[in-house]
Amino acid sequence: MEIVVCIKQVPDVPTVRMDRERMTIIREGVESVINPLDYIALEAALELRQKAGGHVCIITMGPVQSEVALREALAVGADQAILLTDPDFAGADTLATSHVLARAIQKIEPFPDLILCGMQTTDSDTGHVGPQIAEELGLPQVCGVNEIHREGKFLVVKRLSDGFVDTVKVTLPTLLTVTKGLCPVRDLPLGALEAAFSTKDVLEWNMTDLDLKKEEVGFAGSATQVRRLRTPPPRGSGDIIEGPPDVLVGHLLRRLEALSILDEEDEKK
Ligand SMILES: Cc1cc2nc3c(=O)[nH]c(=O)nc-3n(C[C@H](O)[C@H](O)[C@H](O)COP(=O)(O)OP(=O)(O)OC[C@H]3O[C@@H](n4cnc5c(N)ncnc54)[C@H](O)[C@@H]3O)c2cc1C
Repeated sequence: MEIVVCIKQVPDVPTVRMDRERMTIIREGVESVINPLDYIALEAALELRQKAGGHVCIITMGPVQSEVALREALAVGADQAILLTDPDFAGADTLATSHVLARAIQKIEPFPDLILCGMQTTDSDTGHVGPQIAEELGLPQVCGVNEIHREGKFLVVKRLSDGFVDTVKVTLPTLLTVTKGLCPVRDLPLGALEAAFSTKDVLEWNMTDLDLKKEEVGFAGSATQVRRLRTPPPRGSGDIIEGPPDVLVGHLLRRLEALSILDEEDEKK
């Protein structure tokens, strides 16, 4: 089974800062990690390879520093890594990002049976990229998958939706976005990281390699613009009401009534 896993390098959440003029995340000098759900996608790909054979290729679009994330994924067990990088890719919104990723996937030979993405990232968190890649490539897609089984030419996948478990049988090639609970993530094998840095190759593709034009990528190829960025006002502190349950219930009902959430009729019921 030929599998492509899309991974994104994200800032380590506690160290994130914003550039309020450019309305973007400041990535310079910030420690970066592989998006946690992408780690799960990678693990799922490695498990499928173990059962069905095949090849796992990881791709990322990002600045040259994103190569570190690819090397980490190679150390975990991926077979091939491709970095999509070009100064013109900077400032891409999710549409422009998905377009570059889709174009790169089309160039991979043979065309993959399965493309795995995380359901969302911990930085921009839109959940757009997986579905947009699938749309651009004309592939079926299932989002938020937390179980995958292979049944001949199909995959049977499960996902949680509004408290129900959906079971979906999907033909290959397909794109899945994965979420927590799919599989535990393995520890990095001792020494593997060093080997991934010293002995493994990372392929690099730019605009020319992908036959892309300036107007299709980066700021120019983005359909959306961030107009304003603000921090939500801090939440006020809550009230702690103490006392026996009947007093607490009475107190709570009066508060809900004062807020017009309950009226006297509700209270009598
Ligand atoms: C208007 C606008 C302007 C922006 N400008 C900038 C900017 O100047 N600089 C900047 O750094 N960011 C910028 N961004 C953010 C950038 O567009 C997103 O980081 C990117 O499109 C991915 O979106 P996401 O994190 O919401 O991914 P999601 O859709 O939440 O990600 C889902 C999954 O898709 C895959 N994926 C997502 N991104 C990548 C990737 N790059 N490579 C491989 N796989 C991926 C991963 O598997 C991930 O788990 C901008 C966003 C917008 C809307």
